[in-house]
Formats: sequence, structure tokens, C-alpha cells
Amino acid sequence: MPGAGPIRYDLGHFRRRPMEAMVSTPRGWQFFMHPGPTNIPQRVLQAMARPAVDFTGAEFVALRDACLRRLRRILKSEAATVVAYAASGNGAWEASIANLFSPGERVLVCESGYFSRNWAATAEAFGLQVEILPTSERAVVDVQALGAQLARDAGHAIKAVLLVHNETSTGMRHPVAEARAVIDAVGHPALFLVDTISSLASYDFRMDEWGVDLVVGGAQKGLMLPPGMSFTAANTKALAAAQAARNPRRYFDWRNMVKDGRQASFVGTAPMHFFYGLEVALDMLEEEGLENVFARHRRLAQATRACVDAWAAGGGPQVFPLERAYASDSLTAVLMPPGHDADRVRSIAEARYGVALGRGLTTLQGRVFRIGHMGALNEPMLLGALAAIELALRDAGVPFGRGGIEAAQAALAA
Ligand code: PLP
Repeated sequence: MPGAGPIRYDLGHFRRRPMEAMVSTPRGWQFFMHPGPTNIPQRVLQAMARPAVDFTGAEFVALRDACLRRLRRILKSEAATVVAYAASGNGAWEASIANLFSPGERVLVCESGYFSRNWAATAEAFGLQVEILPTSERAVVDVQALGAQLARDAGHAIKAVLLVHNETSTGMRHPVAEARAVIDAVGHPALFLVDTISSLASYDFRMDEWGVDLVVGGAQKGLMLPPGMSFTAANTKALAAAQAARNPRRYFDWRNMVKDGRQASFVGTAPMHFFYGLEVALDMLEEEGLENVFARHRRLAQATRACVDAWAAGGGPQVFPLERAYASDSLTAVLMPPGHDADRVRSIAEARYGVALGRGLTTLQGRVFRIGHMGALNEPMLLGALAAIELALRDAGVPFGRGGIEAAQAALAA
């Protein structure tokens, strides 16, 4: 029976050599297809291989200010106060909760999966009351239900609505502009907070136009940097809320970092090497052109979905989101047919074929594997990964429809 034999875990040769953007093995590159961190381009790695400088000196201050200004362009915001932290995305979540609220205040979290639940857990850790807008597993956040839940809050006890733009655990985009429209339609004054950690610089985001009061972003996905840097971007309404907020805070306290609406310092040593890398990552995005970057992500996503649809037609794995219009452009979560283990496919893909995939998180563990297609990625990398995943499916004895790779090629050619 295919796939019945033992999997040989032979990871010893996947060793990272210095200054290489991908993991080199004696038989070629490892294809790193995680939905974050993502492939770090050689140019970014090289830019970071520099000595430290005085982080209060003019050279670093100019670099920091320029990078924060350029990030505003990616967020499509004229005036937001962007603050960077030496912290992974969880740090930016914590900054959002610590700066904006007081203990006992109520927030409404739109459930979208693992990452929405963890943002909610951060709010609970600060003593906030968390109300959940429930969403069924493979569905998009229901903005009409959001409007109804806000309309019931006649006393305006809800201080903020929290929404994850791209839920990385399910590979689903959620409707930001539409959520803002219903908040306005019911005349609710809640702040609107959006997590863009796995959409930023991968697809269109319009902070000002969509009326987002606070954005949370991270470095290790579309921005192609190592993990360990994250951001918030606040508009004037969010900055005003921060003045009144009583949550305890120090490392993430905007009052310690922001002067005249701009980040003027860090609490502690500035993470200058991230800025060396960020400057070059922004150069790369601007050289390609943001709209072209978005179009590339869309094409790679469409090709991935075309491939998975062909697998599904043979009773095989399928695209996890049910509503195709909301399937993510930065990753595809792939749902296994019943009785087949996604982690076995992942193990085979990595150990035999050198393709590293994301796992299913908590309730989706074993049911889903995730193909990251964001950041520094091109057509041959994607096609190679998809073909190797097909081999892994075959080795694991998972049924699947034929023609996936041809379907991906056809989508790319179109
Ligand atoms: N939000 C989203 C949408 C994410 O994908 C992640 C991480 O993958 C996080 C938040 C948490 O970020 P980090 O793991 O960098 O702390």
C-alpha cells in the first residue's frame, strides 16, 4: 500500500549556511513555504550584516524616520503614528491593548481562528472583558451580525472592535472596509483595530480609506524580515484614547516613545539591524512596485488554489475557506480528506523532498497544512513546492485528483 512504509527523517543535511537566503542541502535548496516567517532575501540578510551604530545618532535617526514614513505608504495612511517594537507580532498586540484601554473595559473580537483568539487572550490578560462575535469554522466574519451586536450595545460599553484582516490559521481574508461600514451604519463610536500581520505588503490595505483606528503589523511575512520586529499604526482617535487609558504599560508605552505624533525613541536600545533590513526590504517592494507585488501574490494564490482544486476533484485535499472570494492571497490552508493526517504529509514533504509547510494550529492540527505564498517567492518556487507536495500526498497514500500542477501552470499562464 502506498505510504505504508516508515518515513525516514533525514533532516541532518538541511543546514543553514551563512549568507544564503534559502537552506542549502547537498542536493539543492530547501523550499521554505511557511506562512511566516518567510524567505528572507539575500539583499536583506546582507544589509543586516553590519556593525552597530549609535542609536541616538543622526545616521540611525534618519534611517528610522525614513523607514517609518515608508511604512505609512504601505498602510496607505497619510498621517498615522507608526511605532516599531523589538518584539514579534505578539508584542504589537500587547501594545495595542496596553495603550488603548483600561482594566474592565469591553472589547468585541471578531472570531476568525487561532490568531483572533490569541489577541482576545491578550486583552483578557489585561483585565478587559472580551465579547466574541462567533464565526463558524470555514466562514468569513459576518459583518451584518457585527452590526447587529453593536446595535444592541445602546450604552456604547464596547470600546473597540478587533478584527484580523488575514487569519493565518485558516488562510482567510476578512472584510475590513465592510466592517467599518457597518460600525458607521449603526453609529457606534468603538475604535476599530485591525491585525495585518499576514497581509501587510502582500495585499492591498487602506488604513485611512477604511477608517481603521489602529493597525497591528509584523515584519516576518510580507516584509521579508526575520521575526522579532512589529508595529502599530495609530490615528488621532487612537492616540487620544491612549491618553485616557489606564492599563499598566512600560516597554510598549507610546508616552515613552512618541513625540509630536512621531516615534522619537525606543524604550531601551533601538533594534537598528531590523531597520537596516527593513530599508532594503522596502526598496525591493518599491522597485517591484506595490501594485505589482500585490498582483504577484494574487497570481501565486490563484495558482495554488487551482492546484488544490484539482486535488479535491479526486476526493483529495481541498481549499479550507468555503467562500472563495475570501481565500487569502498570502497563504492557502489545505484541508485533508477524513482519515488522513496533514502532519504526516508535512513530515514527508520536508524529510523526503525538502519542502517545509506550515502546520494546522490547535483545532486544525492534523486536519490542515498551510502553504505560505507570501514574501520573496516566484513561480518556479511555487510550482516546485506544489509538485513536491503532490509526491508527498502520493507517498502518504492520500487520494487526490490528477492535473494539479497543470492547473497551477494554466493559472499562471493566464
Ligand atoms: N497575528 C497574525 C495574523 C499572525 O499570523 C501572527 C503570527 O503568525 C501573529 C498575530 C502573532 O505574531 P508573532 O508570532 O510574530 O508573535
